[in-house]
Amino acid sequence: MTADPVAIARELVRCRSITPEEGGALSYLHTVLEAAGFVVHRPIFTESGAAPVENLFARIGDKGPNLAFAGHTDVVPPGDEKAWQHPPFAGDVAGDKLYGRGAVDMKGGIACFVAAALDYLAANGGKPKRGSISFLITGDEESVAVNGTVKLLQWAAARGESFDHCILGEPSNVETIGDTIRAGRRGSLNGTLIVAGRQGHVAYPDRFDNPIRGLVTLITALQAPLDEGNEHFAPSNLEFTSVDVGNPTVNVVPGEARGRFNIRYNDRHTQASLKALIERRAKAAGGGRIHHRFEWPPSNADVFVIKQGPFTDLAIAAIKDVTGRTPELSTSGGTSDARFIKDYCPVFEFGLVGQTMHQVDECTPVADLITLTAVYRRIIEKYFG
Ligand SMILES: [Zn+2]
Repeated sequence: MTADPVAIARELVRCRSITPEEGGALSYLHTVLEAAGFVVHRPIFTESGAAPVENLFARIGDKGPNLAFAGHTDVVPPGDEKAWQHPPFAGDVAGDKLYGRGAVDMKGGIACFVAAALDYLAANGGKPKRGSISFLITGDEESVAVNGTVKLLQWAAARGESFDHCILGEPSNVETIGDTIRAGRRGSLNGTLIVAGRQGHVAYPDRFDNPIRGLVTLITALQAPLDEGNEHFAPSNLEFTSVDVGNPTVNVVPGEARGRFNIRYNDRHTQASLKALIERRAKAAGGGRIHHRFEWPPSNADVFVIKQGPFTDLAIAAIKDVTGRTPELSTSGGTSDARFIKDYCPVFEFGLVGQTMHQVDECTPVADLITLTAVYRRIIEKYFG
């Protein structure tokens, strides 16, 4: 079985696994991992209102410590395929780069860990020197993420599986392989502010109460800074993303106005404390005259931080050995499945360079696939060494 990360990445990119379609990607991994001696499971998870989704769990070894690698084979849609110079599902290699949807996010990262694990096993007579290696691969990360990693972890726990440490292979690096480990994420909370007024003819100000005036006042108040950040995180940020009255006429003042916003918040807040703070600020700014309420849809994207410790130190040393760079531990960027994994074991994210993720002509230098494989291989060696 090949331990060539480029060949594995090309096979994966050729699978049309547009979220939440399996597209042959998990079947391919199943074949590769089973041939290398892993015990492979393919649980399908369902939930009303969402598509059923296939997942993959694989493990080799039956003792601890159990080092897990987590990732997703689903990809975001390619958009207009004609806009791509290299077709999104061809797996073209051109000019020292591998092109295709998922090349960096994150079929490339999975290919590198598979190649590193296979190479490590081959060097040790086909099994781990000690402990176990596991794969937690989902097909539901890019969409609603309800039938993916969150359920896969519960499924594994119910089978008595436990994980000592986990690497999530999302594209963590900013410019160059080795510049950034993601060790935590800000939380994400959505809200809607609804201001109620009284509808009326625009020519008769004494007969209406324009909710747009109140909405503007509250939006201004809510944009005040939330905090100054701390050693692990940038300042939290509240951003309005839409303002709506749904009014098609020019001479009617609407009865209600809404503003939607998103907050990316650091570990100086919890969801509950943040909601209370926002509601308190709105109440103060409204002075009892602006009738308003908030809607808070449920969010499963809590803030978390992985503090520097033996596991991150091991990774930093391995990255330095291979690349000569000392990575920064960062908490920037969007949310990821690490928010679920962190409840089971220490986890950090380290993968390819994220610059072209979700873009037309997504691509990774072939050299990065080789370097990342070497980093993972070094981490595995140090971990079990
Ligand atoms: Zn991803």
